Amino acid sequence: MKPVPMLDLKREYDYMKKEIDSALQRCLEHQKWIFGPEIKDFEDAVAAYLGVQHAIGVSSGTDALVLSLRALAIQQNGKEYFEKTDEIITTSFTFTATGDAILRAGATPVFIDIDPRTYNIDVTRIRDYIESSKDSGSSQVVGIMPVHLYGQPAEMDQILKIAEEHHLFVVEDVAQAFGASWKGKKVGSIGAAGAFSFFPSKNLGGFGDAGMVTTQDDGIAGLVRMLLKHGGKDKYNVDHVGYNSRLDTLHAAVLLAKFGYIDEFNGRRREVAEHYTAGLRDLKDIRLPVTDCPFPFGSDEHVFHQYTIRSSRRDELQAFLKGKGIDTMVYYPFPLHKMKVFSGRMKVFGNLSNAEQAVKEVLSLPIEPLQEEESTQYVAECIKTFHG
Ligand SMILES: *Cc1c(COP(=O)(O)O)cnc(C)c1O
Repeated sequence: MKPVPMLDLKREYDYMKKEIDSALQRCLEHQKWIFGPEIKDFEDAVAAYLGVQHAIGVSSGTDALVLSLRALAIQQNGKEYFEKTDEIITTSFTFTATGDAILRAGATPVFIDIDPRTYNIDVTRIRDYIESSKDSGSSQVVGIMPVHLYGQPAEMDQILKIAEEHHLFVVEDVAQAFGASWKGKKVGSIGAAGAFSFFPSKNLGGFGDAGMVTTQDDGIAGLVRMLLKHGGKDKYNVDHVGYNSRLDTLHAAVLLAKFGYIDEFNGRRREVAEHYTAGLRDLKDIRLPVTDCPFPFGSDEHVFHQYTIRSSRRDELQAFLKGKGIDTMVYYPFPLHKMKVFSGRMKVFGNLSNAEQAVKEVLSLPIEPLQEEESTQYVAECIKTFHG
């Protein structure tokens, strides 16, 4: 059998070559590398697609998170950064940048366990933490940062309800979920801000690092637009501690070309996922992505950035598949609360045993949108051979 890679970006390029090549050619002709016309075109297209007032291109998903939080600190406190006593609740089972952005904005991350069925933040424990920390002196929870992990939306109506009750902001980490929706609303349009990544391997991936902040709030949008270019409306006379975090024209041009395929590609990811599920359903020793919580499998909500299974013999299974020419990945091998960077700078609520168990058992399978059905079947067959 042919090797099965996690992704095949060359194949995707060949599939969209005409649009991408002509987009790049247009840039070569106009030479407007900073804030070129493709930036606004791409921002407008994404804003319309997601149903948001503002979509603001930035240089990475990480910067999208940091800038969103910095804008909220300025808007809510009139201060450049949050205080250490300002707490932001998030999941421990995510990419480093989620927690790191909280530190960079000056606040303290509070890591909370996941729901073992969806790998997303456990909303009951968010409530429990807020209740238990009410009388804890000077610290106060200011926001919640849910991550739509693997392309599956977190339970946004519960999260919004808690946020409303306690006057907290919600920043969505949408890095893995471009195009996913929660009850008819695209994720990234629900919280005070959404932070997207266009890292090459994401569902909408560019030719390098890029990201986007989305928001319905004019104030946040204005601040993010200042922060991304050194902190001022006028970059030669600035108001805030800013960054050079612009989205490059060239990246916007490529992303705009690829954006035309996003619904088709997310649909193809869902098809690959269905084939995996059909092929693996009867295996007792592995757990498949959950199909009925919080919404039914096959709905238009999950965009399967990853198709992640669980096995108690994960490392052996991964090595076995490698021997069969099949690439897999472990997202993520360490929970954030075990990382040195957060030591002494975080709070951990209760035990995080679901996250600690997940890091030992999860394995993400190849989910290239253009993957042939026979490759998907081959992966499923090999897993059956191993666990059979
Ligand atoms: C990729 C990712 C990020 C960071 O995005 P970059 O563009 O790589 O900076 C943040 N959060 C999550 C959950 C991610 O998967």
